[in-house]
Amino acid sequence: MTDTLLQTKNLQAWYGESHILHGIEFSVPKGQIVTLLGRNGAGKTTTLRSIMGLVKNRTGSVVHEGTETIKLASNQIAKRGIAYCPEERGIFSSLNVKENLQLPPVIADGGMSEERVYELFPILKTRGNSQGTKLSGGEQQMLAIARILRTGAQLLLLDEPTEGLAPVIVQQIGEIIKRLKDEGFTILLVEQNFRFAERMGDVHYVIEHGEVVDRFERAEIANNREKITGYLGV
Ligand code: ATP
Repeated sequence: MTDTLLQTKNLQAWYGESHILHGIEFSVPKGQIVTLLGRNGAGKTTTLRSIMGLVKNRTGSVVHEGTETIKLASNQIAKRGIAYCPEERGIFSSLNVKENLQLPPVIADGGMSEERVYELFPILKTRGNSQGTKLSGGEQQMLAIARILRTGAQLLLLDEPTEGLAPVIVQQIGEIIKRLKDEGFTILLVEQNFRFAERMGDVHYVIEHGEVVDRFERAEIANNREKITGYLGV
């Protein structure tokens, strides 16, 4: 049996008056890759932001390593070893690669050394003195993932890391994510790109209108392909 690292129950969230999440429930086994799939506006990003404590108005339960975190502030959640890589990547574009890596946000214990980061992402070493704005989309995404690894987080919340990237770069990002899994990281991945998600995920949850409407293990994908693509409108 695999340990559960994170579990949400009846997770609800609001932006102002708008009720966005209506009771999201899923669990993330330690060391696995779990994907959240769904159409635009389904509530995937809001789910990640709620777990990270970035949506203030949220209720329900988010248990991380046996501790309830629903009432914690985002910096306390980060200190537990959870990190969020937003869709817009969140790097400092006016700073160069090296500086970005030396300025990670809140640190949990055991942040990845710069040396290890460069081993995982050799291109970042080559581009060390390049300013954020001068990087390609793929390089920016790698830098964004590298920054969250520097925090020492063991649970990585990745929001559409492949968005807007060329297939060859998507392939590289996929290899990095798999390698992180092999090294023991746990990954919660939001994706619109189902072909990428199915290659990555051990378990997939489908979100519609702020609720989980289905769940598939990796082995169940082949027999449910039509159903899943129907959910995603692809
Ligand atoms: P996408 O891929 O488009 O980001 P998503 O599944 O991640 O889709 P969310 O970004 O979580 O969806 O958005 C869920 C709903 O919440 C949408 O209706 C969106 O318009 C709304 N929403 C998102 N951010 C805000 C905000 N800051 N204020 C108000 N409404 C928001």
